[in-house]
Amino acid sequence: MRAAVVTGFDKPVELQEVPIPEPDAHQVLVRIEASGLCHTDIHAAHGDWPVKPGLPFIPGHEGVGIIEKIGSDVTGRAVGERVAIPWLGYACGTCAYCVSGRETLCESQQNTGYALNGGHAEYAVAHAAYVVPVPEGISPAEAAPLTCAGVTTYKAVKVSGLRPSERAAIFGIGGLGHLAQQYAQIFGGETIAVDVTEEKLRLARELGAAHTINAATADPVAEIKALGGADVAIVLAASPRVLEQAHASLRRGGRLVLVSLPKDNAMSLPVFQTVLGGITVIGSIVGTRTDLAEVFQLHAQGRTKVIYETRKLEEINRSFHDVLGGTVPARLVFEM
Ligand code: ZN
Ligand code: ZN
Repeated sequence: MRAAVVTGFDKPVELQEVPIPEPDAHQVLVRIEASGLCHTDIHAAHGDWPVKPGLPFIPGHEGVGIIEKIGSDVTGRAVGERVAIPWLGYACGTCAYCVSGRETLCESQQNTGYALNGGHAEYAVAHAAYVVPVPEGISPAEAAPLTCAGVTTYKAVKVSGLRPSERAAIFGIGGLGHLAQQYAQIFGGETIAVDVTEEKLRLARELGAAHTINAATADPVAEIKALGGADVAIVLAASPRVLEQAHASLRRGGRLVLVSLPKDNAMSLPVFQTVLGGITVIGSIVGTRTDLAEVFQLHAQGRTKVIYETRKLEEINRSFHDVLGGTVPARLVFEM
């Protein structure tokens, strides 16, 4: 099969011909139809994070395809089913986090496209218990971005406790932000989209944003405060300055949800404003299998719109370049 293989953190990704993997007793073999490109793939391929993936490996944690083989001990999944293979590739299923519905916090978890080979290939094996069925009526190319960008932002809105009539500010309208905004609206929130490009703000307006703010030409804190402040701020831009602006834009009782991972790994947190304002700061990491099933359900009901552009797997290095340059519409999806 053809696969995009990372052979070194300072080398371009190589398109290689490698053997089709065999599923073990608890795994399924999936023929990949579409695989979304997440910024995390680029961090993985460049070895940017403290715990690096072992080399060589196949990135990708938005793989969607058809089950072609199942391991001898697999129950509940069948050949011919369309499934998604998310970032949470495996969790232990027995620790306190797993049994309390917080499997994304499992300390024994293994992540797809990082510790486990991922979806940027013609085939992938995955732990049967951690793939999520894709309902009828959702195309593979739309299911792919929902598998990470969708579930991550859906979870962020969920943990924010956003209520109808509250105001949610979304900082960064890209692959994740355009979905975060839609989920905030589904939860009944009035949305404020903040970005630095007019094109993305136009998209936010088309998707129903009540207010848009261009942070390149206006001060988002002053603008949001003038609207009465945000009850919830969700940050998808990987910059400490944006995190600090999001904090400052909250009204009293507000919740700041951190999703993006800035390289510098720090933000300054004004303690007085946090304490006196009763501000909550929440870290949110991807979502569970149940969260992803809910994301798919909402999309099957026609309640979300996924903005994406398809590419060939051969274009992976150019696609990395385009994502880093911020020149892509929302999400890139490789079609196999
Ligand atoms: Zn991702
Ligand atoms: Zn666990």
